[in-house]
Parts: sequence; C-alpha cells; structure tokens
Amino acid sequence: MLNLPQKTLTKIKSLLLRRQKEVDDQLKALENDDPIIMAAEMVEASESGTDSWMAEVHGRITSVKNDLVDLSSKIRISLLQIKKGTYGKCERCGNPIEAERLEAMPTASLCISCSNKKTKK
Ligand SMILES: [Zn+2]
Repeated sequence: MLNLPQKTLTKIKSLLLRRQKEVDDQLKALENDDPIIMAAEMVEASESGTDSWMAEVHGRITSVKNDLVDLSSKIRISLLQIKKGTYGKCERCGNPIEAERLEAMPTASLCISCSNKKTKK
C-alpha cells in the first residue's frame, strides 16, 4: 500500500466514481446531439447544404467525445489501481504522488515535479 491514508483513498474513490458517472452521462448526451448520428437515423430528412454544418458540429462533438473517452479510461485505470493498491504512484519516477494533488486531480498519473518537467520540456 502506498502512503495515502485510507480516508483520503476513500474520498478519492468516491470522487472518481462520481466523475465516471458524469462522464458517462455526458457521452450519452453527446450522442443525442450529434447530427451525423441523427441524420443516419433519418436519412430521408437530410438535405444538401446542411452537410458542411453537420460535419462541423460532428467534428466538434467528436473532439469533446474523445476527451471524455480519454478521461473515462483514466478514471477506470485509477479505480483499478486503487483496487490493486498501486494507486498514487508517479508513472515516470515511481515516487508517491502528493495526496493534495490527487485530491485535486484524482486521475493524475505524474507527481508534481514530473508534471512540471513535462509541461516545460
Ligand atoms: Zn514523478
């Protein structure tokens, strides 16, 4: 087990579970908003001229969706790591990630100093 107190871990876990639900809901909502998916469901209603608008909205939705899918997989990994007892370890240097950082950003996979190095580059 890493350095995190059980209380912190429990808190982070519930944060992650709540976040995961939010992300799932957002993903579902996005699918309802995507004009391409809607158009595919009602092909006959489509008109030429709306295509570029649809492509634009579709592109925007897809990029938001990719971010959400990415976040969702990070959340899943974090939850799995909590279960295995490997949560909170920096994936670059192997040191424990600061508890305050994890509470603020439960999906963090780098400690503060590695994360600073990474953004500076
Ligand atoms: Zn590190």
